[in-house]
Amino acid sequence: MPFVEVTSVSKSYWRRTGLRRVEMPVVRDVSLTLDRGETLGLVGESGSGKSTLARMILGLVAPTGGSIRVAGVEVGGPSTEALRRQMQPVFQDPAAALDPRMRVVDLVTEPLVIHRRSLQASTSRAALRRAAGELLRSVGMDESALDRYPHQFSGGQKQRINIARALALRPAFLVLDEPVSALDVSVGAQVINLLRALQRDLGLTYLFISHSMPLVRYLSTRIAVMQQGRIVETGAAEQLCAAPRQSYTRQLIAATPEL
Ligand code: ADP
Ligand code: MG
Repeated sequence: MPFVEVTSVSKSYWRRTGLRRVEMPVVRDVSLTLDRGETLGLVGESGSGKSTLARMILGLVAPTGGSIRVAGVEVGGPSTEALRRQMQPVFQDPAAALDPRMRVVDLVTEPLVIHRRSLQASTSRAALRRAAGELLRSVGMDESALDRYPHQFSGGQKQRINIARALALRPAFLVLDEPVSALDVSVGAQVINLLRALQRDLGLTYLFISHSMPLVRYLSTRIAVMQQGRIVETGAAEQLCAAPRQSYTRQLIAATPEL
């Protein structure tokens, strides 16, 4: 059984034009699977529905049709809360996800605090600082960051803090929605290499979303190409890039220079 199973998922929004409501399909009949430990790259131009699909997989947006299962559990079903610990997002804007009034130690351990409170387990200050230090080291930072605020860090460091926070509950699955698109190329490359190392060390499963074919190719085992809400081509990363079947895939490959 695949670890993530997306079956015939659709999403429409409705737009009012005068008295009429017009259906705007954003994701159309998408099916895909992810095996445990692999990276599926999802690539497509802006507006093709990638983020909407990601948000449905995370249980943040309800599909109009179809079903999604992660680790055998239906997203949106009665056990969705338990699933939230297993899958965590990292989004494009590294600053947006970090409350500017919180110190790094609290940002990184907030998921632990919320989770332990729900278990009525203790969250001693010392234990949380220790956990935060370990999480920071796992993303190439250290304890010197603990008592500082987000604005004191560069974009790349902020994204590392977001990744540390995403790892706090030891998830199995990360949904990476354009995680380096807002960063300079060289800084982004370092974050991509960090993600690769984390995957190897922790056995993580990734859905890696990007509009950049070279980036997707670098990180992914398989690639799914999305155009206007549909998956138009999927395949093993090497093969899909070497011999794309769709002209849209060829356009995406031609649009971005090799890294
Ligand atoms: P991508 O991530 O590939 O750029 P998105 O999933 O963000 O694409 O958006 C796909 C389309 O859905 C866009 O045309 C966008 O304007 C539309 N869309 C996304 N979210 C909403 C929403 N909450 N309400 C209405 N339209 C939306
Ligand atoms: Mg997007």
